[in-house]
Amino acid sequence: MNVKHLLSTRGGGAVSAAHAIVWGLSSDGGLYVPDALPELNLDALLGLDYPALAARVMHKLMPGFESEELEEDTKEAYSSKRFGSQNPAPLKRVTDDLYSLELWHGPTLAFKDMALQMLPRLMTRALGKIGQTQEAFILVATSGDTGKAALEGFADVAGTRCAVFYPREGVSAMQRRQMVTQEGNNVHVIAVEGNFDDAQTGVKEIFADSAFAQLMKAQNRKLSSANSINWGRLAPQVVYYIWAYLELVRQGLLMGMPVNFVVPTGNFGNILAAWYAREMGVPIGKLICASNRNHVLYDFIRTGSYDRCRAFYKTQSPSMDILVSSNLERYLYAVTGGDAAQVASWMRELSTQGIYTVEGDALEAMKRDLYAGWADDQAGQKMISHYFEKHGYLCDPHTAVAFDVCRQYREETGDGAPTVVVSTASPYKFAGDVLAALCDEALEDEWLCCKKLEALSGLTIPASIHALEHAKVKHSLVCGKDTMRDAILTALEG
Ligand SMILES: *Cc1c(COP(=O)(O)O)cnc(C)c1O
Repeated sequence: MNVKHLLSTRGGGAVSAAHAIVWGLSSDGGLYVPDALPELNLDALLGLDYPALAARVMHKLMPGFESEELEEDTKEAYSSKRFGSQNPAPLKRVTDDLYSLELWHGPTLAFKDMALQMLPRLMTRALGKIGQTQEAFILVATSGDTGKAALEGFADVAGTRCAVFYPREGVSAMQRRQMVTQEGNNVHVIAVEGNFDDAQTGVKEIFADSAFAQLMKAQNRKLSSANSINWGRLAPQVVYYIWAYLELVRQGLLMGMPVNFVVPTGNFGNILAAWYAREMGVPIGKLICASNRNHVLYDFIRTGSYDRCRAFYKTQSPSMDILVSSNLERYLYAVTGGDAAQVASWMRELSTQGIYTVEGDALEAMKRDLYAGWADDQAGQKMISHYFEKHGYLCDPHTAVAFDVCRQYREETGDGAPTVVVSTASPYKFAGDVLAALCDEALEDEWLCCKKLEALSGLTIPASIHALEHAKVKHSLVCGKDTMRDAILTALEG
């Protein structure tokens, strides 16, 4: 059974995929979720290449989109031109029973490309399907990687415009450089004096501001979202979990044997896609949720209390420096059996008191599905050097968090099932910290770090990194966390 409608986690909804993609959030503040999940016949998918698999899976998840449309779009989005080879999601064997699913071979070197190369194509079709003639103005809050991936995806796409807010001090040097050099006539990049949660809260407030919506309407614009709250982001992410499992089968795993996945987690989007894949029949054992020092999810999964009132730490894995994991709402909807009133009440408590508590069956279900762990920067550094020295495998600081939590899980449970660590960024995106882990050398200059890392590891510097070295800075706007609206208006005038 395919998905027929998308519903809001807070009770409204029953819309088509096109509406969900263009609107982003439901008008009741909820996130769109599928009304049912299709069962997959994995044997029938074994022979498909990545674009064909992606089209097949997304067709089941996006009511109102035709197979032919999706086939055309996935061929373009996951082409070797964009991902460097025919396989956009290579599964690398690290040890006998440990694999790394590398999702960072796209244009911006992080896993966000897996969805954001697809979303603009879906958005363009969706605008046509619902007959929206106003420009879709996409607002993005980024903890580092979404921003660049959205800019790259939406640059010069007709009928769209994209503004990205990033925390001024909260992203890596390379992440900032990628964003501020973005080309395109419809893109804006703005630094916020604050952290990611400030930027994300600001964007959510702008979405809820009807006066601002009127202002945009007068300019023939309508706000839209490319954050992972958008169903058009999640559906493409389900695909690579199915792909990874099929790859394991193609490499000799017995079909049906359970496999664990370890996911470096921030906004809970990536791991939620894995959960959907499992509900659709992929034999996933434990889903292992790996956090950094901002381990609000670890505390939640262990205790049932989600408490965002806590210190915020800047870490070497900035894309996981998040205290409010938006996509958790979708998971809560699922584990309560679709209890929208309960979900809405928890979300109200989160916004008014900063805390809510899940008990009983829902908590039990969560503990069955998920294992949670966290690792600080020091533990991550140790993993980078361990896997490089012992197994010749180089990973970035986000993936390193996952490797460490994988180690904790295996030590704690003795579970020896084959395990896939989801690798979310290229080591070159965080060359300084990766280099420091390997040779105790602290270099200021990012380019020098990249060159040293290349010499040391033998892993070729990606062309997109080279291109950045001499790229012109095009965006320099800065705003306070309370002046994001003004910054948008300034950017639009410029
Ligand atoms: C976005 C991101 C994450 C976190 O993914 P979520 O879907 O937000 O949980 C982890 N690692 C990297 C490199 C990222 O860019």
